[in-house]
Amino acid sequence: MSLSHVDMETARAYPPRVSAFTQTFWNALGEGRWITTCCKGCGRSTFPPKPVCPHCWSPDVQWTELSTRGTLYSWTRVHAAPAVFGAEAPYAVGIVDLSDGVRLACRLVETQGQPLRVDQPVEMLVLRYSDGPLFAARPAS
Ligand SMILES: [Zn+2]
Repeated sequence: MSLSHVDMETARAYPPRVSAFTQTFWNALGEGRWITTCCKGCGRSTFPPKPVCPHCWSPDVQWTELSTRGTLYSWTRVHAAPAVFGAEAPYAVGIVDLSDGVRLACRLVETQGQPLRVDQPVEMLVLRYSDGPLFAARPAS
């Protein structure tokens, strides 16, 4: 299932460091695919993707699709942002529990008239900045 996207006018304020290993993730995200690594030994997925399983230390991992939907575990709105994100403040960030059990932190895209609340259904999406993609979540439609 392909992620929906929002086109952004600017470059990412704090671009991710892309390694030879994470290039696969960033390339997929740029194509609207939402993936991470899954351990072939214990079967658990982790996020962000890792070349070694943090649960059983197996180096035998494979790329797998992630659920694009989940619920909002917690969130906050940042008004006093670090200088690099100052132009974007105020903005919301949160912790999302994906329906396949992966928990992650990300930016939240707010929809006017649809306030954020704990436990609400959310969907992942791609923010297409001029220099590359970032992932975020928003209230599920
Ligand atoms: Zn494992």
